[in-house]
Amino acid sequence: MSKNKSSESVKVVVRCRPLNQKDESNGPAGGIIQMDLQLGQVILRNPRAPASEPQKTFTFDAVYDANSKQRDLYDESVRPLIDSVLAGFNGTIFAYGQTGTGKTYTMQGAWLDPERRGVIPNAFDHIFTHISRSQSDKQYLVRASYLEIYLEDIRDLLDPNHGSAKALELRESPESGVYVRDLTSCVCKSIKEIEEVMNVGNQARAVGATDMNEHSSRSHALFLITVECSQPGPDGRKHIRVGRLNLVDLAGSERQAKTGVQGERLKEAAKINLSLSALGNVISALADGRSSHVPYRDSKLTRLLQDSLGGNAKTVMVATLGPASQHYDETLTTLRYANRAKNIQNQPRVNEDPKDALLREFQMEIARLRAQLHHRKWRSKQKKEQVDSEGWERDGDEETEGEEDEGAEKEAEDYVKLEEQRLEREKQDIREDQFLLAEEKQRLLGEKERMMGDLRKEQEATEQLTAKYKAMESKLLVGGKNIIDHTNEQQKMLEMKRQEIAEQTRREREIQQQMLVRDEETVELRETFSSLQQEVEAKTKKLKKLYAKLQCIKAEIQDVNDEHVRSRQELEQTQNELTRELKFKYLIIENFIPPEEKNKIMNRLTFDPEEDQWKFQPLVPAESKSSQMKKRPASAVGYKRPISQYARVAIAMGPHSRYRAENIMFLELDMTPPNTASLDRSAESEPNQSHSVDNSPTKDRSVRKSRSWCQTPKSITSSSSNVSLAACHTATPMTAQ
Ligand code: ADP
Ligand code: MG
Repeated sequence: MSKNKSSESVKVVVRCRPLNQKDESNGPAGGIIQMDLQLGQVILRNPRAPASEPQKTFTFDAVYDANSKQRDLYDESVRPLIDSVLAGFNGTIFAYGQTGTGKTYTMQGAWLDPERRGVIPNAFDHIFTHISRSQSDKQYLVRASYLEIYLEDIRDLLDPNHGSAKALELRESPESGVYVRDLTSCVCKSIKEIEEVMNVGNQARAVGATDMNEHSSRSHALFLITVECSQPGPDGRKHIRVGRLNLVDLAGSERQAKTGVQGERLKEAAKINLSLSALGNVISALADGRSSHVPYRDSKLTRLLQDSLGGNAKTVMVATLGPASQHYDETLTTLRYANRAKNIQNQPRVNEDPKDALLREFQMEIARLRAQLHHRKWRSKQKKEQVDSEGWERDGDEETEGEEDEGAEKEAEDYVKLEEQRLEREKQDIREDQFLLAEEKQRLLGEKERMMGDLRKEQEATEQLTAKYKAMESKLLVGGKNIIDHTNEQQKMLEMKRQEIAEQTRREREIQQQMLVRDEETVELRETFSSLQQEVEAKTKKLKKLYAKLQCIKAEIQDVNDEHVRSRQELEQTQNELTRELKFKYLIIENFIPPEEKNKIMNRLTFDPEEDQWKFQPLVPAESKSSQMKKRPASAVGYKRPISQYARVAIAMGPHSRYRAENIMFLELDMTPPNTASLDRSAESEPNQSHSVDNSPTKDRSVRKSRSWCQTPKSITSSSSNVSLAACHTATPMTAQ
């Protein structure tokens, strides 16, 4: 990978925990790890190999042995990173190693013992102390979130419904990279508050540990701190820098002992291992530098750490080791991972004025609230003046701009008090007024009551606004103001000195490491040989050295091969298990689900790569929901059903029943009174009216009745059965008229 100016490599430090009783009782005595603190080297002895086999040596940015203090690791390896975060860089610290080697101890430690506090509490101290000591023109906003990845699900540890809540989704934006949607984020104003956030999250994890077997070592925990800092720039405008700090405590990196593990538990194990092997693959791909594809998308963990590995972040990896000889394989794997991670290049840059800075939103909201308060104050002042001009006594004090904020509240209170007094007095006057009618008195008193109610409401609104304003403002930390720094000057000096020493040690180690590399390369080149014998001796020595190196590399190749074989076997076993599972599911599908139902389901399924899940498409496509009701074809406008052109012409031409698409039945009410012919004798003496109809062979009542509303049949065709219908048709337009 090309090293450009702004790129820097991932810092890798190794820490070995002390030998504990369990180690001693389970295996042969004595550790397998030696450390050279000066040179930053770890020397690993293979307990199963013959003594002649060369020991494996790894060099890192720093190494910490069993006697190391939490403070040493923090001051030397973590402090510079936190300083960078405070300056607006992204930073990540993650602990990697086998279960029980001290990842949680390193990251969290024993909270109550100042000597054994881990990276996270020390970082809290560091951040808030830095804010309290910074200049007062700086404004800070500190937020914290806490999540865990369990079985490839992201869970919010600060969510009260942690256990039952849905897994969170990952999203990506060009502004802030990969982020978790809807993750709770708490604004913290002090060390105490952020510690509380941490404790709430830890308790959520602890609950899980009792519910699920070995939960704590099966989930990855990420504590995220965002520090936003606003400072006026040379252009007079406020500039915001945002530093994001990820503190990661990974699950144990040991391989699952898979023998005898089947079914659900195997799937679970496969998923847990997935993120760690994905992390390994990402580290390998990045360290290699040649592979164009980095498989970040293979797991949630690698996606979340995308920026920290090969992206815009400064990263420190703490690899933790156990000294016990029975864990030689795991220790070697951890060291190899750590060694590879050293080659990863990141491109950290300061996040200046990002669009999604919450601090900007806070500042705007505070400005808006302040403007509202000012407006209210101005209104009350106006009213006060009005009252004043009406003769009400008041003291006309003038305030300067600077006093306005503090005075605003008092002014409003004064105004309300004065108004209340005035209204009370007016009420008294009304009550005492002899000339007013009782009714009039009541009305005036009611009016004054109402005015007082309005006044109180207004006062309440102002109080609420002020409280909101104060709450918002208190969330912003101002440099050198919010936190009282109890440390005295001497202590500050001491801290600075300690920092300097740590920095010096680091530089010394770097130089020594560089010298060692150069020595090997150059010393022999400069050698001149006085005699042949001497040359032979020197060359033999060199050969021996190179041979030893060759053996080391051969051993390394063998190790890597063994490792690959082991992981391949594990993967094959997982694959077999999953195939069996798949076959079982297929059997059920083939035999118990009708093929057409299956096809229907298959057609509706789509894969969402963003969420890594299959999803059902809705039955009705979203865009056609509104047009579910089929529209009438344009050719049939005005008709209740489609109708052909020919039929339309035929209808227009004449009242042919065949083309009546609708209303063949006449539904109009018979408005004429019923035919009373049988009762009214005179009706029978109207031969003209009934004549034609009476001629028909069907002399039934209905026809006669129809005659009564078919008032004047125009034409009578030859067929008698047509008579009534034809009559009806002609009648329609007439009745309609
Ligand atoms: P992990 O998180 O890697 O599974 P833990 O951090 O829980 O392991 O450590 C396991 C045990 O070892 C704990 O009891 C812890 O106190 C102890 N331990 C780990 N590292 C150290 C250390 N550097 N010094 C003293 N005790 C340690
Ligand atoms: Mg742990």
